[in-house]
Amino acid sequence: MAGINATQLVKEYPGGVRGVDEVDVQIHDGEFFALLGPSGCGKTTLLRSIAGLEAITAGSLVIGDRDVTNAEPGARGVAMVFQDYALFPHMDVGDNIAYPLRIKHVGRDERRATAEKVADGLSLQGLIERRPGQLSGGQQQRVALARAVATRPDVLLLDEPLSNLDARLRLEARTFLKELQRDLGVTTVFVTHDQAEALALADRIAVMKAGKLQQIGTPREVFQRPNNTFVAGFIGSNPMNLVETTVTGGGISIGETSVPVPAGTEGLVRDGQTVIWGIRPEYLRWVSSEEPGAIPAEVSVVENLGASVLIAVNASGHKFQVVVPEDHEPAPGDRGWLVPQAAKTLLFDAE
Ligand code: ADP
Ligand code: MG
Repeated sequence: MAGINATQLVKEYPGGVRGVDEVDVQIHDGEFFALLGPSGCGKTTLLRSIAGLEAITAGSLVIGDRDVTNAEPGARGVAMVFQDYALFPHMDVGDNIAYPLRIKHVGRDERRATAEKVADGLSLQGLIERRPGQLSGGQQQRVALARAVATRPDVLLLDEPLSNLDARLRLEARTFLKELQRDLGVTTVFVTHDQAEALALADRIAVMKAGKLQQIGTPREVFQRPNNTFVAGFIGSNPMNLVETTVTGGGISIGETSVPVPAGTEGLVRDGQTVIWGIRPEYLRWVSSEEPGAIPAEVSVVENLGASVLIAVNASGHKFQVVVPEDHEPAPGDRGWLVPQAAKTLLFDAE
């Protein structure tokens, strides 16, 4: 078992694109760690740099107690599952799983025995003699996982392992992956562009944008206390409302309404300052009669989410989204008020 310690890691591609830009990250021994960000932000590059599949441009990398900055991939104690699984089509499942053991010159009988044991653990019983082309997507994904864990790596690197599965299978595989990681206790770095997946699975999440880390924290921390508007907008099934406005009389001006500044920010803002006020759609209440501190608004769009409804409203030129229980569904054109949960509001610097 081993933690990972990256210091000022830079990977510059020919042409000058920095796939990874001065990344500092410490991943703990046994941790399930998610790298989260939009396509092209550098997740795969960082993962491949940890695996040793990319030579880094600058910085250092320690796995366990060894500096592996310049070590060969095979000498790092890591195993990687690629986004497309990269199974060998001409080999059966057993040989696919046992392949890394063959590279390590493990004997045939022991290879086969280990492959069968790992296959059992990943619910691949009875499929040992099939070729990858004869398997479903979910089975292929488990073979790729089995191949990675067969060598008992210190570190498991997973590049979007669920993204090729359909929605229902993805949920099942997610649970399966969580259980596997818990049983093995192996330090795991999990790459995803899906914030819900990262929130559901990870002990901690690193949010990336354009090669740079934006925030590292527990799912609760990045959800409740995003560092900046990028993280605030990226995390959450409905994007956070981010409203640019000014501080007036010690409060946040939304039209004629003055909303109290978030607790703890009282001394940090001054009148006339432009700020971004943030509140999640789940933390706004839509009411049809006025309440103290409520913001008058008009409904523009109503979207059904199933058990709830997402409404878009206009409040003095500001747009908000609000999650409303299904039995309180308003209609476009309805007028009412928004009541923010004061403890859930956030303030960001205007860009
Ligand atoms: P992600 O996995 O988050 O989608 P990548 O790590 O694949 O992002 O890519 C990060 C950035 O590096 C992107 O701008 C991408 O175009 C660039 N990049 C990735 N691989 C290469 C490469 N082999 N050569 C040049 N640029 C690359
Ligand atoms: Mg990628």
